[in-house]
Amino acid sequence: MDARTKEAVRYLGYGNHAVDDSTLALVASSFEELERTTGRRIIYRIFDVSFKDSDHLEIGKLDIVSKNLGKNLKGCQSAVVLGATLGAGVDMLLRKYALTDMARVVALQACAAAFLEEYLDEYQEKIRKEMKEQGLYLRPRFSPGYGDFSIEHQEMILRMLDTAKTIGLTMTDSSMLTPTKSVTAIIGLSKNNVPCHTKGCESCNKTDCTYRRNP
Ligand code: SF4
Repeated sequence: MDARTKEAVRYLGYGNHAVDDSTLALVASSFEELERTTGRRIIYRIFDVSFKDSDHLEIGKLDIVSKNLGKNLKGCQSAVVLGATLGAGVDMLLRKYALTDMARVVALQACAAAFLEEYLDEYQEKIRKEMKEQGLYLRPRFSPGYGDFSIEHQEMILRMLDTAKTIGLTMTDSSMLTPTKSVTAIIGLSKNNVPCHTKGCESCNKTDCTYRRNP
């Protein structure tokens, strides 16, 4: 099983249980369909980070009070602010199957989530290499809505990146990203070479790390 299939199966709630062949076939064909449908787009910009307090920081014009983010970005003078989307085609695909095939909708939801993660991980690797040449190291991706980093900051992030124009990403009145298979995130940049795990602090075994965003 490749990494993206494993991730999709995990999102489907199988955990360590065996997956039957028909589910695996559904996952495989969902990925094929997503490959044809997604219009992956991403934008990032780098902003200065300044701390007013350990849990009160500014990233460009973004004024944030968050203990978790403050801890994670400790020692960072700048941060990558990014937005990414799989595009409106995925939402159209989900709407189409919602009328006829709910099992496929569930599989597509899981596969799209895995697809987006994979896209971000790959792109983050490119950023990592570029930043390393400048003597900067990446902290893990940190999205609004995680821990005490309020989802309300999403609106400002979209404005800072001008995502409506640059990647076609906007927000509904109820703060939902549209297209739905999209994400915004902050990645701290530090001169300290901290060996961060691509999948974030939750997957990292450095339990005594000063920058760990969760206990
Ligand atoms: S716990 Fe691991 S992933 Fe999280 S900041 Fe520390 S080194 Fe990086």
